[in-house]
Amino acid sequence: MARILDGVTIAAAIKQEVAEEVLALGAVGIRPGLAAVLVGNVAASEIYVRNKVRICGEVGIYSDLIKLPETATTAELLELVASLNARDEIDGILVQLPLPAQVDVKTVLDSILAAKDVDGLHPVNAGLLQAGRTALAPCTPAGVIEILRRSEIPMAGQHAVVVGRSDLVGKPAAMLLLHQNATVTICHSKTHDLSAITRQADILVAAIGRAGFITPDMVKPGATIIDVGINRISDPAEFARFFAGNAKREAAFAKNGSTLVGDVDPKAFEVAGAYTPVPGGVGLLTTAMLMANTVRAAKMRRGL
Ligand code: NAP
Repeated sequence: MARILDGVTIAAAIKQEVAEEVLALGAVGIRPGLAAVLVGNVAASEIYVRNKVRICGEVGIYSDLIKLPETATTAELLELVASLNARDEIDGILVQLPLPAQVDVKTVLDSILAAKDVDGLHPVNAGLLQAGRTALAPCTPAGVIEILRRSEIPMAGQHAVVVGRSDLVGKPAAMLLLHQNATVTICHSKTHDLSAITRQADILVAAIGRAGFITPDMVKPGATIIDVGINRISDPAEFARFFAGNAKREAAFAKNGSTLVGDVDPKAFEVAGAYTPVPGGVGLLTTAMLMANTVRAAKMRRGL
C-alpha cells in the first residue's frame, strides 16, 4: 500500500512556522505585507485570491486586495505595480493570472520589483534560482521540495523525472531538485518514448495539465509520485475511467457534477511507494509557500 504524502498536514506545519516568524518580526516592529491584484471576474481567480488573503489573516501577514475591471490596460497595471513597488508596507506583490487578453502579461510581471516578486516569476529571480543563490522561488515547485523534504524522501542521488517544462512549475521544480543533488531529467511534449523515461524515475513529478496522463505502466514500482496537476472533470465517462468503484468519489461527483483529478491516473498510485493525492496534496502547499515567500521577502528587503 503506497504511502500518502499529506499536503494538509505539511501545509499546516509551514503556516504555523510562518505565523511564529511573523510574531517574532512583530516584536521588532516589522509586519510583512502582501498585495494581491485581481483583474476582471474569473471565478476561479477570485476564489484563489480570496483564499490567499484569508490565509494572510490566519498567519498575521498584512494584506491588501486590489481589484481592477476586466477592461484594465497594460498601462493601468504598470501604474498600479509601480505604486505597490514604492509602498514600504508591501513586501510581496502577487498579480493573479490569467490576465485579460489585452494585457501584456510579461511586461506587467517584469515590472514587479524582483525583491517583492513572491511568485518567483521575475527573470532576476529565475536567474538567481538557476545560480543556486538565495532567491524567491516559485511557490508550487518550492512546495514540491517541502513535501519531499518533510516526508524524509531522499532526493540526493535519486533520479527525478519532471514531466512539464513551464516557467511556473516544471523548470523551477527541476532546478530545485538539482540543487537537492537529484539526477534530473526534464520531459515535455516533444520527448520521445516518454514512458521509458518516466519508468526510470525514483521521483516522478507530473506537471502537464492533462487529467490522468501518467498511467500505471509509466511508473517504476515503489517510486514517489508528486502530482502537481489540478484538472476539473465533469464528463461521466472520464470520471468513470478514473474513479469507478470509488464510493466516496462517486457520491461527491453525483452531488457536485464534477471533481478534481491530477495529471496522474489514480490507478498509477497503486504502483507507487508514496504519492501526493489530488486534492489534498501539492495544491495546498502553493499558498503556504506564498506566505513563506512573503516573510522571506520582508526579511531580505531589510537585510535580515
Ligand atoms: P503548462 O504551462 O501548460 O505546461 C505544461 C507542460 O506539460 C509543458 O511543458 C508541456 O510541454 C508538457 N506537456 C503537455 N503535453 C505533454 C505530453 N503529451 N507529454 C509530455 N509533456 C507534455 O502547465 P503548468 O502551468 O506547468 O501546469 C501544469 C499542471 O500543474 C496543470 O495541471 C496545472 O493546473 C497544475 N498547477 C498546479 C498548481 C498547484 O498549486 N498545485 C500550480 C500551478 C499549476 P511543451 O513545453 O513541450 O508544450
